[in-house]
Amino acid sequence: MIEEFGKLPGIGPKTAERLAFYILKAKSDEAIALADAIRDVKNKIKRCNVCFNYSEQPVCDICSDQKRDKSLICVVEQPKDVIALEKTGASKWVYHVLGGHIAPLEGIEPDDLTINKLVERVRKGGIKEIIMATNPNMAGDGTALYISSLLRDSSVKITRLARGLPTGSTIEYASGKMLTDAIIGRQQFE
Ligand SMILES: [Zn+2]
Repeated sequence: MIEEFGKLPGIGPKTAERLAFYILKAKSDEAIALADAIRDVKNKIKRCNVCFNYSEQPVCDICSDQKRDKSLICVVEQPKDVIALEKTGASKWVYHVLGGHIAPLEGIEPDDLTINKLVERVRKGGIKEIIMATNPNMAGDGTALYISSLLRDSSVKITRLARGLPTGSTIEYASGKMLTDAIIGRQQFE
């Protein structure tokens, strides 16, 4: 178990040991609940057919929420970014999860992401604005630029989060206040 915990991100050998001993001493149902949660996450969690966020249903809770403004799509790299943006409570839009960013040097091409599916969503109509919330670093900016070039001929307004976010940072680790400001101050994409 120490070995398995040690494979997790950010867990060093000491912490792995501490976690393993914690489980060893924990009540049986507590430990089993953790094991069940891990099994469930692998068996039940799929990708939403619309936005590609994680979901237990074919269409996720956000996409099936009637109160959401479906004409606003916020484009993010990872499901973690959805969580960060949702925490701000600043918007009632829907999302599109790309599954990463374009990085030719790492062998990640546009076709490896859900970019085509996003273009399909836009072509179907009813979309007023695409808000680029890719990370404010070179890969994120490049990905946003590529997508905006694909959508240039559509009538959809393309914006990006304001540059209040420090360059080179990530959406995931930005503070709620910072994200809220970036959402409110979003600007037309050039
Ligand atoms: Zn969805």
